[in-house]
Amino acid sequence: MTPPPPARPGDPIEAVDTPALLLDLDAFEANLHAVHAFVAACGGRVRAHGKAHKCPEIARRQVAAGAVGLCCQKVGEAEVFVRAGIRDVLVSNVIVGESKARRLAALARGARIGVCVDSPLQVAQLGAAARDAQAPLELLIEIDTGMMRCGVRDTSEALELARAIDTHRPWLSLRGLQAYQGRAQHLRSPEERADAIARAGARVALFRAALEAAGHRCAEVTGGGTGTYPLELAGGAWTEVQPGSYVLMDADYAANLPAHGAPALRQALEVLCTVITARDTHAVLDGGLKAFAVDSGLPVLPGSGWRVRGLSDEHAVIVPGDDARALAVGDKLRSVPGHCDPTVNLHDWIVAHRGGRVEQAWPIEARGALF
Ligand code: PLP
Ligand code: MN
Repeated sequence: MTPPPPARPGDPIEAVDTPALLLDLDAFEANLHAVHAFVAACGGRVRAHGKAHKCPEIARRQVAAGAVGLCCQKVGEAEVFVRAGIRDVLVSNVIVGESKARRLAALARGARIGVCVDSPLQVAQLGAAARDAQAPLELLIEIDTGMMRCGVRDTSEALELARAIDTHRPWLSLRGLQAYQGRAQHLRSPEERADAIARAGARVALFRAALEAAGHRCAEVTGGGTGTYPLELAGGAWTEVQPGSYVLMDADYAANLPAHGAPALRQALEVLCTVITARDTHAVLDGGLKAFAVDSGLPVLPGSGWRVRGLSDEHAVIVPGDDARALAVGDKLRSVPGHCDPTVNLHDWIVAHRGGRVEQAWPIEARGALF
């Protein structure tokens, strides 16, 4: 059962119960429109990644702002988005298992559904599920762009998959390639990022040429995210980009200054905590490892003069710098998480606010959708 929202419309931010996720609507809208306008000016399309926010209301706003649809990584996320009215969803990930294939095919009765493959077993399972459901699935062959995660490594594997997809016509069709170089997104220097995406682009060209020479059309090449999308678009090999973090932002991405002509992005996501103990040496906040993901570093406390020393399950111990403002028990402090996606997944609600007041609390419905 979902707990009640931590705030009501019209409440001042200080009245939000904690720990709570906050979304600054001015920053969110600025990021949304800036990135969508930039991508459109490059002649590309945005397929917004829903794994970052897992929130139908944010997904609907992304589509209203011109996204062609949503991406997600899990069938459970796709179920939430389709139920919320998103009509075009790509699972930008490979999925294995008859049960997942059947659930995905069921969604394709009411929405356009894409999914990635990198092995013949997945094609066989998706083909059987789509035929049984009498609902078409569009497949993208995922290629390993140099990231060494999922994806085929040789053109011969891609050709084998394309032939296998053909044997399941009309229930399966080849939409194109999934080419995601996620590691490049978080490299600190713009030159390193550009180099990694140039190499990924060469891989795309190689696979596309091999498939097309054998008569398999690649209408879409999709990939990229917040850290590199201008590079994917500039290279010309991609038709569609998949940024997710751009609407929220986090401390890890904030450490990379805008590059490659991309618009600067504002911090829209914060975690609000309450000071539960205050000493001259330190203070303690009521959010710990169950409120913040720390895989990309500890949360930061901008403008406060305080620094997070460490987190335990339910506590953050913070220490003052020279210019730290005085804190008392009951004060509320805003913080920026190191990594937005896994932080959002820890919360049931995101509190959308503007001008110091709560507008609405939105449920993070796909929270915990692990399969
Ligand atoms: N596409 C895929 C396949 C991903 O795994 C991710 C995130 O890890 C993204 C797109 C979106 O990346 P970001 O949130 O960094 O924009
Ligand atoms: Mn991420």
